[in-house]
Amino acid sequence: MRVAQAEGADLAEIRIDHLSESELAHWRDIVSSKSIPIIVTNRASWEGGHWRTDDETRLNILADAEQLGAEYIDVELASAQKFAQLRSTPSAKLILSHHNFSHSLTTPEIDVIRSKMRQYNADVHKIAVMPTTARDIVPILIALRSAREPTIALAMGALGQVTRVAAAAFGAHLTFACARAGSESAPGQVSTKRLSTFFGFRFVTPTTRLFGIIGYPVEHSMSPALHNTSMRITGADGLYVYLPVDTDVATYIREMCDLGFCGFSVTIPHKLDAINAVDHVDPTARRIGAINTVVRRSDGSLAGYNTDWVAAMDAIEHALPDRSLLGKRVLCIGAGGAGRALAFGALARGATHLLVVNRSPQRAVALAEDLGVDRAVGMSLDHFFEADNLDYDVIMNSTSVGMHPNVGETPIPREKLRSKPLVFDAVYNPLETRLLKEAKAAGCVIVSGLEMFVRQAAEQFRLWHPGVEPPIVLMRQVVLDNLRAK
Ligand code: NAP
Repeated sequence: MRVAQAEGADLAEIRIDHLSESELAHWRDIVSSKSIPIIVTNRASWEGGHWRTDDETRLNILADAEQLGAEYIDVELASAQKFAQLRSTPSAKLILSHHNFSHSLTTPEIDVIRSKMRQYNADVHKIAVMPTTARDIVPILIALRSAREPTIALAMGALGQVTRVAAAAFGAHLTFACARAGSESAPGQVSTKRLSTFFGFRFVTPTTRLFGIIGYPVEHSMSPALHNTSMRITGADGLYVYLPVDTDVATYIREMCDLGFCGFSVTIPHKLDAINAVDHVDPTARRIGAINTVVRRSDGSLAGYNTDWVAAMDAIEHALPDRSLLGKRVLCIGAGGAGRALAFGALARGATHLLVVNRSPQRAVALAEDLGVDRAVGMSLDHFFEADNLDYDVIMNSTSVGMHPNVGETPIPREKLRSKPLVFDAVYNPLETRLLKEAKAAGCVIVSGLEMFVRQAAEQFRLWHPGVEPPIVLMRQVVLDNLRAK
């Protein structure tokens, strides 16, 4: 309790069913010595708790805890009637709770549960479910948004984390966090410290603008750290969360926007499918066939952008002596998602000759065709490096070759590098790849993927917070700090 209080919790939950045998003997002392308001819970094993003996003792402990001054008593809806009979003088607020550890609930199912909670005069309604797919959290967020009574509604596990960290934005009565990492009482809880410092829980209200990164997986993403820090430092309103989405990304985006989300970053593997969610697509993003940014406009329509290509081209042009790709000869290694963005970006900025080369030739050829064959050629990597003398102004690596942990690899043989070109590597972990090290040693100008990553985030920030300049120096520092901590 003291740790929770020190980390900023307003109240603590005492889980009687989690106490050891010796602690259980002193449960009254634990309740009586509370230093902050408490919820006392004694969860039955049939509702996911650890209490294994008889129900009568379990509920009697709760009734006694109320007499000892607990501010809240949490009772399973299924025990509501029995508990009502044991209660002498109600003094605590009654939380009636319903848990489902195997799946989620639909909105009509939640409505039925809530009307039962009303019958038993619950002061607070609590519903906790286990989502099996990303869209399972939608009825939970609807339950919060539409609640007439004080309500706690949450989805457990990583898929449901947003229901915990953004609970205040949806009007939840409270949210649960663990005192310290590793002491979670339910899957998906974050620590009190992370909730308050990283997610700025104290500042989140129902008017807070919500953003998030959609991908699968997303827990490794640096975007939440980058955007939350940037919003805080510039005073831009908002909370940015992790949104792991397994399937049906277009429907997910539309549903979450209906629930008030203002924008999303989109990452692997959803950059292509996300296009189907939006009403307007930026023309270059349409040609690339992928978006990494969604903006909900004031009229409610959704717009999709690809800030990857803008970011990469800005970073490259910034490092070129004449600050322009106009008329340049460009080599693009790789034809995946990043490759498409870089190749289209180079043409959009006026490159006159573009060669795409990729390990799987058919992918390079397909991209070259999409780009317009008169200016682009696709062929396999091996054949290419045997024959080509790399007479380009700009070489862009968009493959994952050289990325951590394979830091000893490089997509271009060292002897092929000469001092003339600018070499850009989309990889940003490590910051200086083997390719960049060897290019620098050969006298080339080098540009790291870090510049692309920071600039694509800055461009998103401009789209979501018009009129607020993104703190680029800080953004770069956040990414560097995160990379060092990995
Ligand atoms: P992707 O769609 O999966 O494409 C991967 C590309 O790398 C394909 O061209 C693939 O060739 C090639 N490749 C993978 N392993 C290879 C190998 N051993 N030898 C030769 N080619 C290989 O991934 P992506 O989204 O384009 O991302 C690619 C890289 O760009 C990643 O390192 C990612 O971190 C980076 N990136 C950076 C930023 C940034 O902001 N800096 C943004 C996006 C991506 P095949 O077609 O033959 O498989």
